[in-house]
Amino acid sequence: MKTMDEFTEDVGDTSFVSVRGGGTRWGLGGSLTEGTNEVEAPKGVINFKPEEMIVRAGAGTKLSTLQNELNDLKQEVALAGFPDSTVGGSLAVGSSSHRRARIGAASDVLLQADCVGADGEQFVAGGPTVKNVTGYDICRLLVSSLGTLALMGVVTLRTRPKPEMGVWLKGELLLEEILRCCYRPASVLHDGHNTFVLIEGYEKDLQKESASLEKLGMSVMEIDPIIPPLVKGALQENLDDGFLDLQTGAVYSNTPQEKVEISEEVKLLSDRIKNNFDPTGRLNPGRRPY
Ligand SMILES: Cc1cc2nc3c(=O)[nH]c(=O)nc-3n(C[C@H](O)[C@H](O)[C@H](O)COP(=O)(O)OP(=O)(O)OC[C@H]3O[C@@H](n4cnc5c(N)ncnc54)[C@H](O)[C@@H]3O)c2cc1C
Repeated sequence: MKTMDEFTEDVGDTSFVSVRGGGTRWGLGGSLTEGTNEVEAPKGVINFKPEEMIVRAGAGTKLSTLQNELNDLKQEVALAGFPDSTVGGSLAVGSSSHRRARIGAASDVLLQADCVGADGEQFVAGGPTVKNVTGYDICRLLVSSLGTLALMGVVTLRTRPKPEMGVWLKGELLLEEILRCCYRPASVLHDGHNTFVLIEGYEKDLQKESASLEKLGMSVMEIDPIIPPLVKGALQENLDDGFLDLQTGAVYSNTPQEKVEISEEVKLLSDRIKNNFDPTGRLNPGRRPY
């Protein structure tokens, strides 16, 4: 595995530079300025501390590799991605799982990031413990920053217990009716016609919850609970638009999002943060996280 020092050397301290992960969201936030040097982050799982529920890995590790290894310990991290996505890319994009209502958001996953800053020097954001409250929470700033503030080399992530099983059900119930039948559904999606509910937990609990929902007209779907809703044939055969997550307000759609209006205040604040972290604009030039 590439060391932090080798990664730092690749990043250097002068040229325009970007980390390439799996490339599955490469254009997000704008195209890179021509001539930008693309580097790769270290790859590989470094260590697990299952009893402390943390894992340390190179940011270039495939998310699927990490999730598979955690699977053996009945744990997972609350990040989502396509098959080639990397841990660093998923954090830089800030992609939460469709199971976010139960397992939490991507912004809560990153405990420590060993980074290279715009000056080409290494720095460590956060700490390797879940309760770590000194100083500014730089880790939360790095999640969703699209690599414009610092480049992550090695990360320590919070893990969580993996549910024994999960079941999708389809019907026409309202959110209130669903919440009366089950404790913290992992996902409640609506496509304008039908409601899709993902319940997770121990088999015995799921049988009870599923029976209550079935009594109210929902039916069990024979699909893998981990498959993201936007994969054709996962929830719907003919998927045109997408789904609204009734619990979190997130929209999952295959159609690119219209430009989101950002207030002047938010733009000013973002520009000030960017200038402080990267005064010469060499990290992911051409990209803006909003
Ligand atoms: C259920 C589900 C939910 C999803 N939710 C979202 C979502 O909410 N929003 C969304 O945009 N996508 C979402 N996706 C898509 C998916 O998360 C991304 O495609 C993936 O995480 C990007 O990883 P990547 O390694 O391919 O990154 P790349 O495409 O390689 O890179 C993306 C960006 O991250 C930067 N980057 C990569 N690695 C690092 C690093 N080590 N340090 C600093 N910067 C780095 C790159 O420079 C680039 O700017 C979702 C996917 C699934 C399955």
